[in-house]
Amino acid sequence: MNQSGMKEYIEEAEKALLHTYNRYQIVLDKGEGVHLYDIEGKKYLDFVSGIAVFALGYCNKAYNDALKEQIDKLIHTSNYYYNVPAIEAAKKIKKVSGMDRVFFTNSGTEAVEGAIKAARKYAYLKDGTTDHEIIAMEHSFHGRTMGALSITGTPKYREPFQPMIGNIKFAQMNDFESVKNLVTDKTCAVIFETIQGEGGIYPAEKEFMEQIKALCGEKDILLILDEIQCGMGRTGEMFAWQRYGVKPDIMMTAKALGGGVPVGAFLMTERVAQQSLTSGDHGTTYGGNPLAAAAINKVLDLFEESHIIENVNSVAPYLEKKLDELIEKYDFIKMRRGAGFMQGLEFTRPVGETIQKALDNGLILINAGTHVIRFVPPLIITKADVDNMIAILERSLS
Ligand SMILES: *Cc1c(COP(=O)(O)O)cnc(C)c1O
Repeated sequence: MNQSGMKEYIEEAEKALLHTYNRYQIVLDKGEGVHLYDIEGKKYLDFVSGIAVFALGYCNKAYNDALKEQIDKLIHTSNYYYNVPAIEAAKKIKKVSGMDRVFFTNSGTEAVEGAIKAARKYAYLKDGTTDHEIIAMEHSFHGRTMGALSITGTPKYREPFQPMIGNIKFAQMNDFESVKNLVTDKTCAVIFETIQGEGGIYPAEKEFMEQIKALCGEKDILLILDEIQCGMGRTGEMFAWQRYGVKPDIMMTAKALGGGVPVGAFLMTERVAQQSLTSGDHGTTYGGNPLAAAAINKVLDLFEESHIIENVNSVAPYLEKKLDELIEKYDFIKMRRGAGFMQGLEFTRPVGETIQKALDNGLILINAGTHVIRFVPPLIITKADVDNMIAILERSLS
């Protein structure tokens, strides 16, 4: 494939696809481990992993084989019947999360929708009224469907699509008083990302988590944690909330859960399950179908067999050290935030140009807001990959 090959594809794409993304000008073809290749054969070191999705890296043979095997057996059943992969996946996700009940979805935003419905139903069963309120956080991101968008704390994402679903209030992450001040008799849930992703990599503080948990317990408000980006081993625990020991009533996961196959899930405690969604309240044609469930099963098996979380914990301190050295070295790099393999480096200037230069130099990075470079690599990266990444990034800074 020659240079014009890539250009022509991009021209065709811009005529056929709805233009909702300003895409980088490359056409990706295949992946292997921590590397991606475009259709001209150029190799890229990938520190984005399809936005925190490809935890196991690209073309993991055991994962691919499991999918192929399931494809030849059964791909879809609908949810009117049981299927073994979904039962296995449910048992496994219960075990690693400590939650009691799971509903499988096809995406993160759908998991958020389900969580909102569960919270509203819980409150409805409690007092018979329907105008309950949800407290979400400024700078949060929960997805693009109307419910998830309504609790997303970036006004520009919401503005053109008003009206949102009602009775949503926004507090400040890590400012307990700002949450407490919004609580009324109608509050049914407090929802936030354990580590804010799109908003710029802002981890919840332990004290904030504990205070919210206590407040929720006291007022019978549900604590809902969005683990869609920060979950699945990325922070060195299976779910980021496990680092704090603050267990939610409802949680969502997606992104890395299927290792590349589109899946999501919302999970809840038995107490909430017994007093919220019941037959007829919620559904999905595809959610938890045998192919998606086979992906989840293999991902969770490989997490254990390949010691994925151990790798995060062994390499992440090195990544942090290397990023911190950049702060010392360059006065336009302000600070680092994050945990494990979910890191943000905040610049005093916009990062778009640096990310473009890195791409030209064979390194895939992504922003989180205008001034933060986000590092969400496959969870299999080594110290050598970190060194390569830092070398290319430094070449791309000037
Ligand atoms: C990506 C993301 C979502 C939405 O997931 P989709 O699969 O894109 O719908 C929701 N919450 C968080 C924290 C995310 O990072």
